[in-house]
Amino acid sequence: MKLGFIGTGNMGNPMAANLIKAGHQLTVHDLRREAATNLLEMGANWVDSPKEAVQGNEVVFTSLPVPRDVEAVVLGENGILEGASNGAVFFDLSTNSPTMIRRLHETCAAKGVTLLDSPVSGGTYGAAAGTLAVMVGGDKATFDRYKPILGAIGTHVVYCGDIGNGSVCKICNNLMSMGTGVLLAEALTLGVKAGVDLGILADVINNSTGGSKRLADKFPRFLFKGNFEPGFATALAAKDVRLATDLGREYGIPMELSNLVDQRHVEALFRGWGAEDSDAVAKIQEEKSGIQLRLHD
Ligand code: NAD
Repeated sequence: MKLGFIGTGNMGNPMAANLIKAGHQLTVHDLRREAATNLLEMGANWVDSPKEAVQGNEVVFTSLPVPRDVEAVVLGENGILEGASNGAVFFDLSTNSPTMIRRLHETCAAKGVTLLDSPVSGGTYGAAAGTLAVMVGGDKATFDRYKPILGAIGTHVVYCGDIGNGSVCKICNNLMSMGTGVLLAEALTLGVKAGVDLGILADVINNSTGGSKRLADKFPRFLFKGNFEPGFATALAAKDVRLATDLGREYGIPMELSNLVDQRHVEALFRGWGAEDSDAVAKIQEEKSGIQLRLHD
């Protein structure tokens, strides 16, 4: 199938590569042409605007940093809505605001374009392996029709309900992941300070009720190696926690602990770590406790 793909960064690039490997013909666009070099080598076509990425393609995907980027790419000059024909389908793979995506959905629908929010989870390594979780909100018949395409990027493709519900699921998930990261840093620095080897501590927790993917998959690739190359940038993690606390305010849900997690991410940004992997947030606890959480092979 002919597909457009806008935003070929840390996540978009491996997802687009898997779509090509699955036999689809891709037209790609990014603000940085170099972000698509490998995709062009794999046979993708380059275009200079979102508008051109949609033209002539049945489905278009976006994987963009923050909600205002998605809004600009959809509504802006030379944007998706300028290029999309009646009947076009658009999956937003970004982690976005449910309220924003619901508003964009209305605007798209008025032009005959079906928008589904379809944020993903599983990290850059899950994106490369094609094993992401994909959380989709929007028209069910459209989801059923294009689910096989989503199967090229993820192994757990779930219909979450009406438009915006994929984003709600994703935001709740990331709040858990980031909150777990903050609490894990406290638990692990405590355990090490009190005398236990970090590898033993992590192994015991991973095989007990405190286990989590954050500890089993993420920390070993990043924090434990002292590797803060994203991965998943701290600026994007801070964005996701803020999307959750904002949604809490919008719906009147009390979220005391979540707002502490939010402020910990604000502090990490203030330290200048926005471009580092989100495991960098744990460095604040390392500093405060005087314990470094590193594992050597
Ligand atoms: P990234 O910054 O690596 O990639 C985003 C890409 O979008 C960049 O290449 C950038 O040049 C491009 N871009 C930005 N604005 C643009 C515009 N106006 N027009 C065209 N291209 C534009 O970010 P990422 O890590 O790939 O994340 C993308 C989305 O996926 C975010 O919403 C993020 O929260 C979400 N996400 C990331 C991860 C992860 O592990 N990195 C995991 C799950 C979800």
